[in-house]
Amino acid sequence: MDKLIQGIAAAGTVRFMAAITTEITTEAFRRHQTSPTVSAALGRVLTGTLLLGSSLKEFDRLTVKIECDGTVGGITAEATLDGTVRGYVKNPEAESTPNADGKLNVGGIIGSGTFYVIRESGYEIGLHREPYVGSVPLVSGEIAEDFAYYLAKSEQIPSAVLLGVLAQNKEPYITASGGVMIQMLPSANEHIATMIEDTIRHAPHLTAVIKENASPSDLIKLALGEIDFEILEEKEIRFACNCSFERAVSLITSLGAAEVKSMLKEDKGAVMTCGFCNETYRLNKANLQKILDSSSN
Ligand code: ZN
Repeated sequence: MDKLIQGIAAAGTVRFMAAITTEITTEAFRRHQTSPTVSAALGRVLTGTLLLGSSLKEFDRLTVKIECDGTVGGITAEATLDGTVRGYVKNPEAESTPNADGKLNVGGIIGSGTFYVIRESGYEIGLHREPYVGSVPLVSGEIAEDFAYYLAKSEQIPSAVLLGVLAQNKEPYITASGGVMIQMLPSANEHIATMIEDTIRHAPHLTAVIKENASPSDLIKLALGEIDFEILEEKEIRFACNCSFERAVSLITSLGAAEVKSMLKEDKGAVMTCGFCNETYRLNKANLQKILDSSSN
C-alpha cells in the first residue's frame, strides 16, 4: 500500500510531506491507459495533490487543475483528507519526444496555461460554502515547479517540491512514483533554507531511490540531509473514486421520466462512464423500468 508521511524539521520551523505513489500512478495508468509521458504528468499531479492536501487542512475536497494548451489538453486531480485521490487527463494518448537527457518530456505535452487549486468544504455536513480558488500561471509545466510556484505566490509559503515518475511503454509500465514537499514556515531561517536547497541539488534522482524500494522517510532524508526531523503522521493513500452504480442510477433518474423512457425504447439501456476513474456503469432495461416505476409513484 502506498504511504504518505508528514512532520516537522529544524525545531519546528520546517514542515514536510513525502509519499510513495507507485501503486496510485499504476492504477491511474490501468484505468486511463495513459502513454508514458502522460503517466508521468498525471502521476506527478496526483502525488502533488496528495502532498498539498496533507498541509492545507480546511477542506473536504482539494482539486488541482491544470488548464493548458499542450497536447494533453488538461489534467485534474482531487484528493480527500482520508488519503484518497482520483484524477484524469483530457488526452491520455498525448506523447512527446524525450528531453535532451532522455527524460520523459512532461513540459512538452503540457505547454503553457494556468495552475488552479480549489478547496471545497462543508459538503459532508450538508453546508455549502463558496470554494476557495487560487491560481497561478504555469512556470514550466514540469509540475513540481508549478506546485512550488503556487505555494510561494498564492499561499506565501516558500517551498521545495520534488515529484517523480518512472514510466515506460512495456511491463511493468510504472516502476516508480513519489514526491516530497518541504515548506519553510515563517520562523525558518535563511541558513536552513540554503542547506536544504544545497542538499536537494546534490541528491540522487527521486525515482532512482524509489525504484530501489525507498520509503517516504528515505525521501525526506534525501531532501533534508543532516537536518533532524520528526514524523507526526503516517497514513495509507490510494487511488479511489466515489462513483458507484447507485450514483449512476440517481444521475439517470435526474434526467426525467421522458428521457428515461426514450433510453428504454431507443437504446434498451443506458451506459455511463465516470470521467475521473473511467469506470463504466451499464443500466439494463429492468434497471430503467424500475426508475420509471418509482418516479411515477
Ligand atoms: Zn469514478
